[in-house]
Amino acid sequence: MSHTQPMATSFDLAAIRSEFPTLKRRVYDDKRLIFLDSAASSQKPLAVTDAMDSFMKTSYANVHRGVHRLSQEATDAFEAARTKVAGFMGAEDREVVFTKNTTEAINLVAQSWGRKNLRPGDEILLTVLEHHANIVPWQLIAEETGAVVRAVDIQSDGTLDMDDFVEKLGERTRMVACAFVSNVLGTVLPVEDIISRAHAKGALVLLDASQAVTHRRVDVRALDVDFLAWTGHKLYGPTGIGVLYGKYDLLDAMPPYQGGGDMIDTVSFAGTTFREPPFRFEAGTPAIVEAVGLGAAVDWVEGVGLQAIAAHEADLLDYAMQRLAVSNDVRVFGTAPEKVSVLAFQLGEHHANDVGTILDRTGVALRVGQHCAEPLHDRLGVHSTARASFAAYNGRDDVDALLDGLAVCRELLG
Ligand code: PMP
Repeated sequence: MSHTQPMATSFDLAAIRSEFPTLKRRVYDDKRLIFLDSAASSQKPLAVTDAMDSFMKTSYANVHRGVHRLSQEATDAFEAARTKVAGFMGAEDREVVFTKNTTEAINLVAQSWGRKNLRPGDEILLTVLEHHANIVPWQLIAEETGAVVRAVDIQSDGTLDMDDFVEKLGERTRMVACAFVSNVLGTVLPVEDIISRAHAKGALVLLDASQAVTHRRVDVRALDVDFLAWTGHKLYGPTGIGVLYGKYDLLDAMPPYQGGGDMIDTVSFAGTTFREPPFRFEAGTPAIVEAVGLGAAVDWVEGVGLQAIAAHEADLLDYAMQRLAVSNDVRVFGTAPEKVSVLAFQLGEHHANDVGTILDRTGVALRVGQHCAEPLHDRLGVHSTARASFAAYNGRDDVDALLDGLAVCRELLG
């Protein structure tokens, strides 16, 4: 894999930034681009774009099918990416299913595991802070099977209400599906506790780790989690590729999610038999180039050091929280003691859209709206929020720019 930039050995922000060409862009009147929208999707380092480019230029072919040289090279590259992803989260290769994104990974479990195992009156326990990707797939399968979706509440600081969890986790709970980290509040959920309590009641646990894997080490074995879903494009990788981890025995007992090429053993009009996991769940030509990109992204993150990135982002979050705390007109949502990298807020009574639009003209890119978490916004009693989020390439100067931008908002919005 080619890698044109030297890898930073210790946390060197300038060196890291230099690996992200997008960040060199100027916007509007030659303003520096301040990218604070990485929770939606992160920018890509050269290590990732180069790996994808080089693969397409030298070894590209379809995988798993050809006896020819290129097809074998492509298959090796694709499977090497699976091995990297598996190693990244402490899984076995055969427990890693490549999907399109987190959304598809959760739909896969809901449709395949859910249709086979859910009965009328069974309960699927979610939380109010879930992303729609971890709500709607469960509603769809509940509708079909007669199962019931319930949601655990939060406390005012954004921590999960564990009393409510304990109360709602019942004999009928078959699946607990919750975020590892909230994409709005930044709250880190007490997943170890959730998993052990759920298992004690005989329920399985699916963790939506979309916002977790970029900020902390996620080890599926240590967690003893049953399913874990995440998406490549937030981990400095490309779009179009996501990951479903499942304990092998669970995956092996699940029927196919989609049918097609590559997922079968034999096909005849008398009947078709299916391959073992993960291939059973990867019908059709997979996202080959994107898998190579995701493998490079995992290498990049490991090269910089997940802990170093996490420590850097924690410093940024502290700094931002401190600077915002002195502004009486800023209301921050989510002040849980365990919180990472995401900062949702409201500026006075101003609509988040107005704030985001003005900030954009100052060069600050952040997200406004409900961040695909409408039930959470209902629970918080607000229509929308502005959300700044931090990644490895952000610095305190970005936080300062956000604060300067908010001063411009106050001037213009009154
Ligand atoms: N869950 C969480 C917590 C997220 O933040 C996101 C992305 N915003 C998703 C799920 C969905 O990810 P994707 O759109 O890549 O499927």
